[in-house]
Amino acid sequence: MPEVLKAPLVVEFPFTRSLGPVQSAFLTGLRERVVLGVKTADGRVLVPPVEYDPVTAAEIRDLVEVAPTGTVTTWAWNHAPRRGQPLTTPFAWALIRLDGADTALLHALDAPGPDAVHTGMRVRVRWAGERVGAITDIACFEPYDGDRAGPAGHTGEFEDPVTGIVAPARLDYTYSPGRAQSAYLHALAEQRVVGERCPSCRKVYVPPRGACPTCGVATSEQVEVGPRGTVTTFCIVNIKAKNLDIEVPYVYAHIALDGADLALHGRIAGIPYDRVRMGLRVEPVWPAGGGHPDHYRPTGEPDADYETYKELV
Ligand SMILES: [Zn+2]
Repeated sequence: MPEVLKAPLVVEFPFTRSLGPVQSAFLTGLRERVVLGVKTADGRVLVPPVEYDPVTAAEIRDLVEVAPTGTVTTWAWNHAPRRGQPLTTPFAWALIRLDGADTALLHALDAPGPDAVHTGMRVRVRWAGERVGAITDIACFEPYDGDRAGPAGHTGEFEDPVTGIVAPARLDYTYSPGRAQSAYLHALAEQRVVGERCPSCRKVYVPPRGACPTCGVATSEQVEVGPRGTVTTFCIVNIKAKNLDIEVPYVYAHIALDGADLALHGRIAGIPYDRVRMGLRVEPVWPAGGGHPDHYRPTGEPDADYETYKELV
């Protein structure tokens, strides 16, 4: 049994989100050191604001300013802050009901240790030095024993409102592909493609996942497939991906390797993007030293007859 692989994997992408009128006012307010909530029909003030009443589902547009001071309603100590969290030193995650609000906002509370935090303690906003219209404009909360600050009654109208944010998403974890895909990856290192056959329906899965999704039984019989295959369907990519050094437009295709009963995907190169077609015969171009094919290129064979791959489209 070959070694089951394991590797660090980071999935990272910027998520661009438009805000709508309520979140736009909330985040623009933070940029201007104003905390806004919304008032529901029955008079409750919700902070952070939402666009629809959680009880009646009615649309809410009535913005109301609340104070930058408040009370901790509950909390948990974070003794090991992780990358991207509001503070780099240990802190409390706290639910904080700002003065004038009926609901609590989740944020970081900077305190010397858990003994310094308790439910009911008074806190205030510590504003970030540079504010851009994001929740991080509140750097954190800090203990506060001064007077209740009265809100100034801001209407929520701003010049140059923030209308969108880019939220960086990042998943950082250790990935183990399991037995079947480890065997697949070990074979790729030798420039071979290995799938697994279902003992029940006899389909050959590439890449193998270790079980047949149709029959629900484990697969174990290894079958070498390809390396040539047929383009079953494709798309032309016109949007350049961040950190991906491929000129657009390019073609990404479903490719049924010879002997496989499932198409895998790969990039097609070595042919103008507008000449790629269903039925095109392709072969992998291996990176130096083996591994996942960099792309597939035409073999020069006649196109495959549709009848031979129609079940794989
Ligand atoms: Zn099966």
